[in-house]
Amino acid sequence: MLEITDLTKSYGRGPAAHTAIAGVNLSVAQGELVSIVGPSGCGKSTLLRCIAGLVHPTSGRVMLRGVPVDDVPDGLAVVLQDYGRSLYPWLSVRDNVAMPLRRTTRGRAPRRKAADAALAAVGLPDAGDKYQWQLSGGMQQRVAIARALACEPLLLLMDEPFGSVDAQTREDLEDLVLGIRRERDITILVVTHDIDESVYLGDRVIVLTAGPGRVRADLPVNLPAPRGQIETKELAEFVRLRTEVSRLVRSRDEREGVGQTTTAAADAHGPGPEVPASRQ
Ligand code: ADP
Repeated sequence: MLEITDLTKSYGRGPAAHTAIAGVNLSVAQGELVSIVGPSGCGKSTLLRCIAGLVHPTSGRVMLRGVPVDDVPDGLAVVLQDYGRSLYPWLSVRDNVAMPLRRTTRGRAPRRKAADAALAAVGLPDAGDKYQWQLSGGMQQRVAIARALACEPLLLLMDEPFGSVDAQTREDLEDLVLGIRRERDITILVVTHDIDESVYLGDRVIVLTAGPGRVRADLPVNLPAPRGQIETKELAEFVRLRTEVSRLVRSRDEREGVGQTTTAAADAHGPGPEVPASRQ
């Protein structure tokens, strides 16, 4: 559903130009959940912004369901880390969630109904009449996720979505995302700097090199479903994968594995399936 070919993005021009990503190739199948990790500043957010049509690539292309992305495409929703700034404080929670539906859904009543259904889906069935300042950080991020879901996106992009909440809330939100993907035919890309999170959530983990970002490794995650915070994380395969990802993120040797699409981890399991076996 998503094809990224030789994607390069430089900011600025001439001698001051800065290349954030260089020659990224990535293919994502319908219904996959793909984690993207890499050192800080390696271009993870730039990659997501190119996919979202928010910035134009310097070269290369992004195709979504066979159509080139050169503007914000239909069927796409984005959840950012900074929930505090992504909600309008003067609107009720329900109106925040219903806001983007103005583009697609006629009539206030159907929009409110869709917003209430999305709030229920994220575990906040009674929060519609509340305001942002009445909610905890974790609840605000659930509202941001509800707003994304209300549009019934085909592709959900999440940029460090749980970077601003405490550890327990983070785990709850991770499980919420796994639950959402279990119930909906939705493709999800999650940018994270948290290596455990990348393995716990992903069907695949894409590791980018230090900037300018390139694909260093594409690791299939063959962990059993459904996943659980305790049961999954104590598995030897989880520990092996998180160690592998950690090693790849920390490694500064550009020659090692750059551009490869599988690693020893993948070789041990055979090539990754088109539609992931670990889908929950
Ligand atoms: P990451 O998300 O991996 O931390 P980013 O995509 O935010 O990385 O940034 C990659 C590089 O591009 C960084 O060096 C950053 O300073 C630079 N960069 C990001 N956005 C801009 C911009 N709008 N103008 C100039 N440089 C930018």
